[in-house]
Amino acid sequence: MSVATKEYQELRTKIEAADARLVAVSKTKPVADIMALYELGQRDFGENRVSELVEKYEALPKDIRWHFIGHLQRNKVKSIAPFVHLIHAVDSLRLLREIEKQAAAVGRKISVLLQFHIAKEDTKYGLDVDEASSIMNEVAATPLPHVNIAGVMGMATYTDDKARVADEFATLAEIKEQLKKKNFPEDDGFREVSMGMSGDYPLALAAGSTLVRVGSLLFGER
Ligand SMILES: *Cc1c(COP(=O)(O)O)cnc(C)c1O
Repeated sequence: MSVATKEYQELRTKIEAADARLVAVSKTKPVADIMALYELGQRDFGENRVSELVEKYEALPKDIRWHFIGHLQRNKVKSIAPFVHLIHAVDSLRLLREIEKQAAAVGRKISVLLQFHIAKEDTKYGLDVDEASSIMNEVAATPLPHVNIAGVMGMATYTDDKARVADEFATLAEIKEQLKKKNFPEDDGFREVSMGMSGDYPLALAAGSTLVRVGSLLFGER
């Protein structure tokens, strides 16, 4: 565990002052590291592999809110449906429908975010605005009562060019506003903008992030 109590508190204070929440990204890190942050009051943790998430869920306190932040395969939804708090990276209608099915099977309503492709790199997953609109039309026609679409998520280009990163975050915040106006005008539940990581979270907060996903800054390099 590399993070000092003071640094954790400062990071959290900064994030909460901007009306956002910290998701501590604990992928590849041992449960002891997670417990050390848990003892300091951290409850939101993020993982990007299903098998690792399930193992950690089983080993750790049950009041942890587990965020799945990676690319989720449909055949793995079932394993996390009983306990996952928020699925950040939904990028297809087929995946939404599988989440609906597995949430119904365990009698839960599962919150998800739609992942958008905001980076000017083509290696990342995510929707564009047209794809999201067509998904929202399908969802309006065939509702998913066990899925709560709670907002959007994105990753900026990995670059030192701050103006570019700020621009990509602004784009995501704008997409969220548009979707809200068009598809969730009465729904205060559609509010999350998951953006910002260790290297770019200050820019994300400035652009209106509500959930920052910080890993290496807290836990050290992977
Ligand atoms: C690993 C990861 C993070 C955290 O990255 P750091 O640079 O370690 O803060 C955030 N979001 C996603 C989707 C990740 O996979």
